[in-house]
Amino acid sequence: MNSEFRNLPGVDQVVSHEKLQEFQESFQHALLVGVVREDLEKARRSITDGNRCPTIEEIVASVSGRLRALVNPGLRPVINAGGVLLHTNLGRAPLSPEAARAMTPVAASYSNLEFDLEQGRRSSRHVHVEDILCQLTGAEASLVVNNNAAGVLLGLSALANRKEVVVSRGQAVEIGGSFRIPDVMRQSGARLVEVGTTNCTYAADYEQAITPRTAALMRVHSSNFRVVGFVHEVSLEEVVAVGERNGITVLDDLGSGCFLDTTVYGLDPEPMVQQSVAAGVGLTFFSADKLVGGPQAGIIVGKRQFINKLKKHPLARAVRIDKIRLAALVATLVHYIKDETTEKIPVWRMIAAPLDEIDRRAGQWARVLGNWADVRDGETMVGGGSLPGGTLPTRLVAIRKGKGSHSPQALSRMLRSRETPVVGRVNDDILLLDPRSVLPEEDNAVLEALHSLAEVLKQKR
Ligand SMILES: *Cc1c(COP(=O)(O)O)cnc(C)c1O
Repeated sequence: MNSEFRNLPGVDQVVSHEKLQEFQESFQHALLVGVVREDLEKARRSITDGNRCPTIEEIVASVSGRLRALVNPGLRPVINAGGVLLHTNLGRAPLSPEAARAMTPVAASYSNLEFDLEQGRRSSRHVHVEDILCQLTGAEASLVVNNNAAGVLLGLSALANRKEVVVSRGQAVEIGGSFRIPDVMRQSGARLVEVGTTNCTYAADYEQAITPRTAALMRVHSSNFRVVGFVHEVSLEEVVAVGERNGITVLDDLGSGCFLDTTVYGLDPEPMVQQSVAAGVGLTFFSADKLVGGPQAGIIVGKRQFINKLKKHPLARAVRIDKIRLAALVATLVHYIKDETTEKIPVWRMIAAPLDEIDRRAGQWARVLGNWADVRDGETMVGGGSLPGGTLPTRLVAIRKGKGSHSPQALSRMLRSRETPVVGRVNDDILLLDPRSVLPEEDNAVLEALHSLAEVLKQKR
């Protein structure tokens, strides 16, 4: 037997160590013991592999590090200076202060979520948002679910199970994060019938694919890529016309979904929800946390007969929205009703921010870094599966390499390691920070981060 094992402390010895006092007082005792056991087991394996026995101090430090991590959850706010406005990895759309504030009272107390206060009886959670969505989109009815992927799955399951859905081959796409139209179709029990070719689909292709088993024609907005060159897709109006001639409805997965005209801001046109509804489709599906600028949710608007079918489907319960996000969604949609989107909704504030304002802020950021930084032209991406070809002009703060070992990656890591991390991007070995994806209210935190970075850059190594 390896003599190193004899130096290993006992469980009780570690558990009652004075440096673990705060955990002895406030943590579940069994949990503390469990973590200590795991660490001692790890030490035992390490000794078996020929390593020396760790000291009790080392074991205690490891245990307290692990215990502390359990109560300091990793999920926290970051400052997005990376220049992609809707970044799924960074939580997509930040909420307006009104939307963020709307969640707290509903979370902390009971609410009339499914209770009619006037009649004193059971009601539906959908009443809180249905009228607003119908007013904004012109649709007859609406339904809100967990996210857009869930909405599309619910729609196909309720309307097309064991039937066929006709989709253009150029639209049988993958959105990323494993949302693939063919897979969602299969999961719903619908059979995907692809028509046309990768680059060209015509109205006649849809017409010829219709059989007695066809449940719907479907348009999917290819929101994260663009096909250029010899390309033809059928307009939504034409698809609806084919559907009407054959008594078949059209489903429209818009992806981002947008209520405002993006071309006003120099962006590519993003299909608008109102246009989809006006074209006469049966159901339109879109996300609440892409260009709508609200919390994660899937919004479905369209004809009442279909919405009613979806509401009654068993999956509707499995994918329903929770009260907290419902409160944030209503508060976000109120900004559209009041026509205050570019003042209130962060994503639209960023899109609408004038370039000279961005330039002024970039200059302020760069000045902190003196000779280490310059301001240059750049582009902000909207991202989040919207506007694949659309970027906004911006002014970037470009930070030069530091002395010695300060690579752009190292500088970038320093900014990310702050209590409120600042996330930039490294391009061609240069660290770039984009003020357009940062709200002006966050500038002080950025300036603080840049001051510390300047200190590091000045140090000779
Ligand atoms: C983003 C997207 C989805 C998925 O939406 P989630 O909100 O991520 O569930 C589905 N379809 C399209 C076309 C999309 O762009």
